[in-house]
Amino acid sequence: MKRSINKKGIGLISIPISLTIATYILIFNVSKFPKSWTMVLQYISYFFFFVGMLLGSRFNKSKVFFLSLILSLSQIILSYGTVATYSMSFEAIGIFDILSFIIPINIFLFPLLKERGILTSWGKIRIGFIIFQIMLVWWIIQPEQSQVQAFIYHKMVFQKTAGMISMPQVSAITFLCTLIFLSIRMLLKPTLMNSSLIGVTLMVFMGLILREQFLALQIAFAMAGLILIIGVVEASYFMAYSDELTGIPARRALNESMMKLGGKYVIAMTDIDFFKKFNDTYGHDTGDEVLKIVASNLQKVNGGGKAFRYGGEEFTILFPGKNQKDVIPYLEELRENISKQKYSYKKKRKVKGKEKIFSKDLSVTISIGVAEKSDKYKLPEEVLKAADKALYRAKKKGRNCVSK
Ligand code: GH3
Ligand code: MG
Ligand code: MG
Repeated sequence: MKRSINKKGIGLISIPISLTIATYILIFNVSKFPKSWTMVLQYISYFFFFVGMLLGSRFNKSKVFFLSLILSLSQIILSYGTVATYSMSFEAIGIFDILSFIIPINIFLFPLLKERGILTSWGKIRIGFIIFQIMLVWWIIQPEQSQVQAFIYHKMVFQKTAGMISMPQVSAITFLCTLIFLSIRMLLKPTLMNSSLIGVTLMVFMGLILREQFLALQIAFAMAGLILIIGVVEASYFMAYSDELTGIPARRALNESMMKLGGKYVIAMTDIDFFKKFNDTYGHDTGDEVLKIVASNLQKVNGGGKAFRYGGEEFTILFPGKNQKDVIPYLEELRENISKQKYSYKKKRKVKGKEKIFSKDLSVTISIGVAEKSDKYKLPEEVLKAADKALYRAKKKGRNCVSK
């Protein structure tokens, strides 16, 4: 289990890194593109941010909505505001410097907030916070705020970094902290959404430091928008195809996988024994916890099997390209592993006015019915039905066993 999580984390972290390298190469080759392309590249980020906001609100991923909004506003301010400040000859601070500090704080902050919708009162507070920041930027760039401005230019580590990186040290350090924080979160919870956020941070950083390069800011921001879109699409895909409680593939995924089965395959149906009684005795919440652990054991089945939650406490395992006699040892191994698994159960009880904690080791068993494709059962649905009948026989035989 642990190994697979790490592998997944590393796999997911490689996506934003390779995208960043690809974008870097694209930025330095953009002059070779036809003129019509550069027109598209200049404005396409706004299109992506718009789609990100649309999908983010539709699929209840408000962090995608807000980050798309923040990045599009930032790009507008960076594209037009920088010119404006120079022409109005503010000598003190460029809008760029202050935004390079504020954007990473937002990338850090918004994903931390709980999902609370957009048109709710929580959402309005967030929109208010964004407006507040715009006003804050305007306030800071005023020539009278020289003390606040001095903070942005404060050199925290090296004294002589002029020219090394084209942004204030405070900003670069904020970016670094955001990146470290997101990476740790990603390794703890390797989801595509978390890896998207790393990608967004890298893209925005690159866009800002390369801003002197032709179209660099526009291309990097467009990639950030695209990454947010991919993140929300993937998260919705995951929601549609995986089971909410156990996190393993759900019925919809099973139906689609069954359609792809070919000439030779085995289907196993499993069901937890006496689970109703278990729920009645230890409570539905304990039952849910047990279901999660049983599901994660089922996912570890060997012999090329893939587990799905069929519904309730019933799970289906598909073995594409396998014979029944080859997979039975693996099913026996699985059944035995689950029966050996212990669940610690704790309950507070009052004994003579004093609260005492009772703890107990619980365990459950499963019964398995198995069937394979044959002349008798030609369609996946028929094989599944046959496996279900075999499961019934396993229950009759006394449970905690595999039946053909
Ligand atoms: P058998 O050995 O014959 O399978 O007995 P059983 O009690 O497991 O069979 P039955 O199908 O009658 O009961 C299934 C129970 O599984 C009913 C319900 O309490 C429980 N169950 C189904 N889905 C969930 C769930 O999502 N969470 C919890 N906690 N319990 C569930
Ligand atoms: Mg059942
Ligand atoms: Mg049952």
